[in-house]
Amino acid sequence: MQKKIAFYGKGGIGKSTTAANVSAAWAESGYQVCQIGCDPKNDSTRLLLGRVCSQTVLDMVKKYGEEVKTEQIVQRGFGGVHCVEAGGPEPGVGCAGRGIIVALEKLKALRALPEDAVILYDVLGDVVCGGFAVPIREGYATDIYIVSSGELMSLYAANNIAKGIARYAARGPVRLGGIIGNSRGIANEQALLAEFAQRLNTSLIAYIPRDRIVNKAEIHRQTVIEFAADSQQATVYRQLAAVICNDPVLSVPTPLAFSELEELVLAYGDE
Ligand code: ADP
Ligand code: SF4
Ligand code: MG
Repeated sequence: MQKKIAFYGKGGIGKSTTAANVSAAWAESGYQVCQIGCDPKNDSTRLLLGRVCSQTVLDMVKKYGEEVKTEQIVQRGFGGVHCVEAGGPEPGVGCAGRGIIVALEKLKALRALPEDAVILYDVLGDVVCGGFAVPIREGYATDIYIVSSGELMSLYAANNIAKGIARYAARGPVRLGGIIGNSRGIANEQALLAEFAQRLNTSLIAYIPRDRIVNKAEIHRQTVIEFAADSQQATVYRQLAAVICNDPVLSVPTPLAFSELEELVLAYGDE
């Protein structure tokens, strides 16, 4: 089964943690899975590999040029997940988005990923420039999920990402699959996220509790799926993985005005 999925969201919101756990859950269910980190932090696949990937696509292309081989840029992690980090420029130089284009084109040219895999792109969503829109713009990913907490700046980033999706949905197959709530423990957070999702013409497909087990697993360089396979948190990630794979409801988002966002946060959070 081929699927082309992307997780977007503000930096630090929990994209990579959620992505790695969802990938691990799919691998457990027997799917071929690829996770591709599109964030200059290069740590998307750390929990799957048990280490930070030291061979990003950009680094390897720089080092080996046309001679670069699939084995140098695709590493196998937990459950056989194919792990890739696109890589990024040195801090302060170059365009990270341009790097994503080069990396994804190289993966395509090498046919480095299995044809029938579930592919999950983990993409930074603070900057909604053309660069970070590449996975959407170039048709690499079609089913987009936004990870957000109930904090105003996270919702602001989510809303901007939704604007980008709406733009590309008008001329192609890109759709929004839903909001993945990752709790920060603020007041009425689940209800706020559900209302935000509804106004965006989508739904809150998961509400992931904030739980210490995530940090414990992270310290041990593992996903919760691996570290605490029988925990309640692992069940939450497995349920999310099942929803995304089995019955996604895809829509064209209807972004909000910033004042509307502010009113929403005030209505739910002021207590
Ligand atoms: P991003 O990829 O969006 O930048 P990360 O996935 O790296 O964010 O997460 C940032 C931090 O938040 C990490 O230390 C991670 O362990 C922690 N975190 C993410 N989700 C949860 C959660 N549900 N409960 C507790 N900690 C979490
Ligand atoms: Fe950064 Fe985007 Fe500008 Fe590239 S286009 S330099 S990724 S903000
Ligand atoms: Mg990340």
